[in-house]
Amino acid sequence: MRQQLPKEIDPFRFANTGRELEGELALDKMTRLAESLHHTEGQVTVSMKFDIDGTGTPYMHGHFATTLSLTCERCMQELTVPVEIDTMLGLVRHEKLVEGLAEQYEPWIIEDGELPDPATVVEDELILALPLVPKHDYDCLPEEAWFAGDKENEEKGDKPASPFAVLSALKSKK
Ligand SMILES: [Zn+2]
Repeated sequence: MRQQLPKEIDPFRFANTGRELEGELALDKMTRLAESLHHTEGQVTVSMKFDIDGTGTPYMHGHFATTLSLTCERCMQELTVPVEIDTMLGLVRHEKLVEGLAEQYEPWIIEDGELPDPATVVEDELILALPLVPKHDYDCLPEEAWFAGDKENEEKGDKPASPFAVLSALKSKK
């Protein structure tokens, strides 16, 4: 089911009433995250459950899933990374109260009268989940592919393929 998430929520009230939110967010609306993306097509599937735990702490249990398009730092080509985040955020009114949160919670600071946009929380979590140095998990450098191609051809006694021939062969496969 596709739903729009509200732009403003009152997380403390949601915790009191045990509200659940489900919906999708477009990646192209996340301008801070977009700086790290190769392209911004796609959606994040979002589920947020608000509640109060046994010790009286209001919290949000979030589950966010998407596929991010990043740029491989080795070959500069696209790298798609599936991301699934499961997070527990403890709701606090002030920075000073963060210390009092139980270990399983990351803090979500919401000051009095503030009605945060749930998309901001999702975007923050996705930014935190970005790999430090995105890289393909295989040998993706085109130069190395050319060397491998040359070696194979030499063994067969053929003329070494020029990089451009390899490239155009790759392109015609698409
Ligand atoms: Zn690469």
